[in-house]
Amino acid sequence: MADGEVPKDIDVIIAGAGIAGATLALALHQAGLKPVLIDPVVFDAQVAPTFDGRASAIAYAAFRQWKALGVGAALEPHAQRIEQILVTDGQTPGAASHGTGPFFLRFDSAEIADSSDGEPLGYLLENRHIRAALAKGVIDAGITVLAPAKVARASFGPREAVVTLADGRELRAPVAVGAEGRGSVIRSEAGIGAVGWDYPQTGVVATVQMERPHEGVAHEYFLPGGPFAILPLTDNRASLVWTESRARGAALKSARPEIFQAHLDRRFGDFLGTVTVEGPMFTYPLSLQLAERFAAPRAALLGDAAHGIHPIAGQGLNLGLKGAAALAQTLVEAMRLGEDIGSEVVLERYAAWRRLDTVSISLAADAFVRLFSNDNPVLRLARGAGMAAVNRIGPARRFFMQEAGGAVGDLPRLLRGEAL
Ligand SMILES: Cc1cc2nc3c(=O)[nH]c(=O)nc-3n(C[C@H](O)[C@H](O)[C@H](O)COP(=O)(O)OP(=O)(O)OC[C@H]3O[C@@H](n4cnc5c(N)ncnc54)[C@H](O)[C@@H]3O)c2cc1C
Repeated sequence: MADGEVPKDIDVIIAGAGIAGATLALALHQAGLKPVLIDPVVFDAQVAPTFDGRASAIAYAAFRQWKALGVGAALEPHAQRIEQILVTDGQTPGAASHGTGPFFLRFDSAEIADSSDGEPLGYLLENRHIRAALAKGVIDAGITVLAPAKVARASFGPREAVVTLADGRELRAPVAVGAEGRGSVIRSEAGIGAVGWDYPQTGVVATVQMERPHEGVAHEYFLPGGPFAILPLTDNRASLVWTESRARGAALKSARPEIFQAHLDRRFGDFLGTVTVEGPMFTYPLSLQLAERFAAPRAALLGDAAHGIHPIAGQGLNLGLKGAAALAQTLVEAMRLGEDIGSEVVLERYAAWRRLDTVSISLAADAFVRLFSNDNPVLRLARGAGMAAVNRIGPARRFFMQEAGGAVGDLPRLLRGEAL
């Protein structure tokens, strides 16, 4: 609907129809607000196999939100339950699955079954399936999507936000949400700065088929170049997130398939039999970027526009999904109370709700990267001892599992699986 008329009675302009923006749009629409999504990339291009090769570990609380928004049925056939997570420090692939060596950590969903209602530690879903389910939900709901269309400028007056597209069209609404990723135009136009740094690392992502059953076990082991994660997918496949130095990442990207396979085999090991690469390989530069504020008068930031973090703990999108649930609830409750949904006082409630959790998780991920992406013998000993200690203490393990499941703290209703 790129050249269509711009709707007049919009409640919320959402710049960016990625996973965070589309989830927010569905939540607002379900509760009676009128969102409009804008994105330079049409949905059909977003779900192409060559667009986004990542799979995401989705916390069970975040998955409940999608069920509450009516997209659970479309996602469930593609969702692989994560029953166990095995973390190993060292260079022996799959060491934790043999239970050998002192330095490993084992998280098991059975240990928190009483508080998680039998839910797994999380679900592994390929991003293209998430994007397809959300796109269908948005289209079926009749939500207006302006695509291909790009937000070029925005201004924030006393009564409304005015968003100007690159083709000159103008949209007006009480509030504009920046969900356009790290290069957010809404953020810069609202005068909100960002802090952060680049990691000297690239995330290499590939999908593989394994010979032996993965049994829903995710593996993460820490090599000097960075973490190497084997994330189980449906049909006995796995998504690899393999962190390497920038130079090695570039070399792997241009390597011939047999060379890539040889490097892969060396890191993966043979504990799951023969491993075959399926489809293209993707690389992502890794960085940390945190917005100085998550809201300003008539503007709110969501997803990577607010916080882009290292994938070491699989929390980036989960933070964006928690943000979508909190922002939707804040705006809907304000609407029901007759408040101005774009006022500073309303948007500051959202920002305050999400600030502590977001900053703590972002900085914890950064600390993990520094602690684990190196071969310093003293640090190796310290982190190995730390892992062995946590592994021996049941309550500590359960704390980490509940934290990763996203079901702790002041949970928005959607993350409890309830409608707004
Ligand atoms: C290798 C890797 C693995 C990861 N694994 C996990 C994981 O297991 N679990 C997890 O929780 N997270 C994970 N993450 C993080 C996660 O992928 C991101 O946090 C998530 O994709 C961010 O989604 P988003 O919707 O906020 O932003 P984006 O995906 O960046 O979407 C932004 C959207 O805005 C659009 N846009 C851009 N500019 C404009 C504009 N000017 N106007 C309008 N629209 C615009 C873009 O086209 C895009 O559609 C991983 C990241 C990496 C790199």
